[in-house]
Order: sequence, then structure tokens, then C-alpha cells
Amino acid sequence: MQTSPLSKIFLDGREFLVKRDDLIDPYLAGNKYRKLYTLLQTPKEKYTTVISYGGTQSNAMLAIAALCKHKEWQFIYYTKELSHRQKENPLGNYAEALRLGMQHKEISSELYRDFIVSLRLNLDEKSFVIDQGGAVQEAKAGLDVLATELREQLQKLPHIKAVATPSGTGTTALFLAKALPEYRIYTTPCVGDIVYLKEQMLALSEIPDNLMILKPKKKYHFAKPYKEFYEIYKKLLAAGVAFDLLYAPAMWLSLLEHTDEAILYIHSGGVSGNSSMLERYRKFDKE
Ligand SMILES: *Cc1c(COP(=O)(O)O)cnc(C)c1O
Repeated sequence: MQTSPLSKIFLDGREFLVKRDDLIDPYLAGNKYRKLYTLLQTPKEKYTTVISYGGTQSNAMLAIAALCKHKEWQFIYYTKELSHRQKENPLGNYAEALRLGMQHKEISSELYRDFIVSLRLNLDEKSFVIDQGGAVQEAKAGLDVLATELREQLQKLPHIKAVATPSGTGTTALFLAKALPEYRIYTTPCVGDIVYLKEQMLALSEIPDNLMILKPKKKYHFAKPYKEFYEIYKKLLAAGVAFDLLYAPAMWLSLLEHTDEAILYIHSGGVSGNSSMLERYRKFDKE
């Protein structure tokens, strides 16, 4: 695997570097590539089946579907029940994942929690469960590789002492901060608030001192369209890089608000999910 390149962008009079993990692969890219790295290195013969669960437009779902297709593993993905509209007209990541061979199974909302808790019971040794969003200890190895790449690339850029990446489960930011203790790692919660993010991180490991969690300007609900998200997305696009619409906008807004030093932003991928989100953002075009 080649080192993903760096791009330079100008935003609000500041220069940022962007690590282009979005360019690694059309499906298995961004931080999902990093988090699934251990599985990608695993010999085909070790497993027959990968099981995961979560949202129907999840970036992790699509990345796992691509990984399983490549490995010829069966991929079973559990979600709560879909709406009729979603079922009749599959869109975005969900449609792509089905095309890649994902077997989708719906679980009723009442049973969902218990069902997920029981997934690892009676699991045979040829099956592997990936928790929602890839929040597993196995993610560490891929983030160590990212840290090694960054260290080498940043050697030539001594003015940069900070790296940023947005958080869902916080797995990426946490393991990256641990692997790069000599850099400040900025993140911001995109799912829930800071308290919830810290809880999720603490389930994986202690939180190191160099990890800085920036507080969003207001409470954003995950996957809801916000005008300021769309605006920063368009600004970044005009600056030369397409970012995702779920995580990147909150991170960029937090960076512009709370920081003023030189920063390297790690593109966390997820651009494939934009088609279904842009549909919902169209209403802002009419304003
Ligand atoms: C999954 C995802 C994240 C969140 O990653 P965590 O490791 O769960 O914090 C951030 N950005 C994008 C584009 C993602 O798909």
C-alpha cells in the first residue's frame, strides 16, 4: 500500500494540509480503511463470514462490504427495520453495499438491542463481528500505520504540530492520538456530545493528554442537514477537495472557531455517502 498524498488548501485566509485518505479506494477508504486494516491483512482462509450492524447509510457498512467482496467472505449486516421508501428505492451507500453482495437483515426495534448484545454468543471461529462503526481494538494496527505515514510526511513540515480528524465513535482520533504522542490531535464529536464521545473512547482505552476534543458551536443531531454544514462543504469543494457531509463540516467549523495554528486535516473519507445527503440538502439551494 502506498502512502496517501497530502493536498494544500486555503480556507478563510488560512493554509491547511489535507491527508488524502479519501483517495485510497472508491469504497474502502478514509478512516474505515485504517480501521479495517487488520482484517484486510488477514488471510482469506481465516474467516467465512463477517457480521456487523448499524445504520443503513453507514460508511463502515459500505467499507466492510467492499472488504468482504475482496476477501470472498459472506457479509451479514443487521439494521432496524427500513422504511418502505428505503426498501423500494435503495440509495447511496446502502444500494452500493447491496451491489457488493451484502446480505441485509432487519431486526425489529423492540428486539434490536438484545439481538446485538447476543451476536457474539455461539459465534463459530470462522465468523468475525465488527461493532457498529468499526469500534474495535483491531482498529489500532491500521492507525499505527497511519501514524507512521504521517510522521514521515510531517518530518519535512516542522511548522505543523497539530493534526485533526472528526469523531463518531472516537476510535480513529483515540488510537491516532496514542500512536502520535508528539502531535496535538484535534477532534470534535459528530454523534452526540463530548460526554458521550469520551464514554465511547474510554470503552476502548484511556484518553491521552494530546487529544483535544473541541466543543461544537451548537448541538448538532447526527445526519440532519444544517445550512452551515452545506456552506462549509461548498467552500471546501471550491478550495479543491470534496469532503463528506456528516462528519467533516462539524470538524472544519470547530477548527475555524477554536484554532489558529497550522493544521494537517486527515480526510476521513465518506464521500460516497454524499449522494443520499445532497438530495436532502437541495432545499437549501432554493433559499
Ligand atoms: C466513520 C467516520 C468517522 C468517524 O470515525 P470514528 O472512528 O468512529 O470516530 C468520521 N468521518 C467519516 C467520513 C466516517 O465515515
